[in-house]
Amino acid sequence: MPVRISSPASSLEAGPSRKSQVHRAPASSEDEEDELIEEEGWTRDTFENRTISKNTTAAIPMLRGMMDKLKDVISRIEEGLDNAKETAVALEDSKQDEPSIAEVETAFFRALDQRQLLQIRIEILEDMINQLRAGEEYSDIESAYQEVVTTRETEYMAKSQRAKYKNLKEYADFRSALWEINHTTACPPVSQWLEKDADEESDDDDFDMGGATQSYKCPITLMLFKDATTSSKCGHNYSREAIMNLIDNMRKAKRASKCPVTGCSAILDKTDLKANPSLQKRADEFDRRQKRREEEKEEADETIALEDEEDFD
Ligand SMILES: [Zn+2]
Repeated sequence: MPVRISSPASSLEAGPSRKSQVHRAPASSEDEEDELIEEEGWTRDTFENRTISKNTTAAIPMLRGMMDKLKDVISRIEEGLDNAKETAVALEDSKQDEPSIAEVETAFFRALDQRQLLQIRIEILEDMINQLRAGEEYSDIESAYQEVVTTRETEYMAKSQRAKYKNLKEYADFRSALWEINHTTACPPVSQWLEKDADEESDDDDFDMGGATQSYKCPITLMLFKDATTSSKCGHNYSREAIMNLIDNMRKAKRASKCPVTGCSAILDKTDLKANPSLQKRADEFDRRQKRREEEKEEADETIALEDEEDFD
């Protein structure tokens, strides 16, 4: 699938003909995502009539500009991934195994593919910049680039769903977010939702994402998160006030403030802590679902009790 990429051509063409790059809201539908990528198309004259290959100083900033554009598109795709996950969660919450979740998942996979294809291009550009720095000269930089892109893209697209998504954190998050709505047990490994290929018999020993239960309890207070905060050193989460107090107390006692999670030896500083509003949001939703479930159970119990009373009459 030839995905066209952004090019810095416009920034090289000085003057009023310069096409402005429009910043758009994150793509919310498949069509918009396609459009988004097409719009930042590579034009033929990006390279034509330029002796870029002989001029490293001109080529490097140009390739860097291309990389920045690609990174920008990737961050918008990632917003789309979050939106798709939220949509799927809302559907599952309305009805277990709601069939339209499959459509959302397909869109999620497409976005993951698009991101990966752009990631491949970024790696190739990085590589070319390093080559140019090392004194390499390209007689035709566009063809050289396109050739590697085509090879790597074809390689990626030939992979099975399992090979592509099995070890992706985003897909594990997508699946466990759905799972926890109607289950209290740990989410099974994500490979169970990905078709197995005949020639992939041997990959079952590989690392497989999933299986971990997302906990919404602070390891310090043992209560639901309050102002969920994540350590950038080890990725563990805490309630903000609890971890701040812990660090303060350790400092007063002149001891290293070790991460309170069992088995974690990260030494924390307040600058390593970052608010995690999306985790807090999921914790609140989890709490809301738990409470609703309890209420439903109480109502059901009351109904049974009433029926029992009637029986005795
Ligand atoms: Zn930790």
